[in-house]
Amino acid sequence: MKTILKYEGKGKALYSTETAGELIQIFKDDATAFDGKKHDVIAGKGKLNCAISSYFFEELHKAGIRSHYIRRENDNEMRIRELAMMPVEVVVRNVAAGSICKRLGLEEGRTLKCPLTELFYKDDTLGDPMINTEHCELFGWAKTDDVRAMRKLARHVNKIMSDILEKVGIRLIDFKLEFGLLDGHIVLGDEVTPDGCRLWDIETGRKLDKDVFRRDLGGLSEVYHEVATRLGIQI
Ligand code: UDP
Repeated sequence: MKTILKYEGKGKALYSTETAGELIQIFKDDATAFDGKKHDVIAGKGKLNCAISSYFFEELHKAGIRSHYIRRENDNEMRIRELAMMPVEVVVRNVAAGSICKRLGLEEGRTLKCPLTELFYKDDTLGDPMINTEHCELFGWAKTDDVRAMRKLARHVNKIMSDILEKVGIRLIDFKLEFGLLDGHIVLGDEVTPDGCRLWDIETGRKLDKDVFRRDLGGLSEVYHEVATRLGIQI
């Protein structure tokens, strides 16, 4: 049972529960982009994201990746372990798209020779600036060993998710993960949904992720539904 609201963000909210150290993570129907400047409410999005995220956390668990996930509680609620979150976003890229194209003048769609990991400081007012391991250590955001662990886990997640998605005809272009500490160990937190990934249909290149919303390319819930259906997820 959820009790006190602990945190509310653009797409999710966290409530404390009757059990110490366990939280309920609620997936909202809100869609936001461009640091919240574009906003919409899309009926059913929370339920789809909760289902997709639960599916990936379960698959990652089977592959030996520890996360905060305990179980899907109901349609849009997930029970999770409370982590001490790192204020760092880890992005993994297989193909150039989004901010790296603007930053480095790359053509969208260029396959990278090997997966690239990037770090961003999680601060909306600063627009999540790109940082490196030294910033993390110097400003006390994450220890160097913990950054190393996050990067290693992120690469492992990339391999597992890329394989799963490729089997259903989807290419994992890039994605963002967030991590936290549980009993002194780095574990995966937050969510794994098409809100935080770029997913392109292998055959046609059609976008199956939040870029559909960012760029007004059609119905977001239809696209997320397609991803879930291809993965065999019960909504
Ligand atoms: N991403 C995210 N939250 C953020 C920033 C990025 O989920 O605050 C995801 C984004 O959906 C994409 C990947 O991380 O799959 C890389 O994003 P990028 O740096 O290209 O930024 P964007 O141009 O998407 O804002």
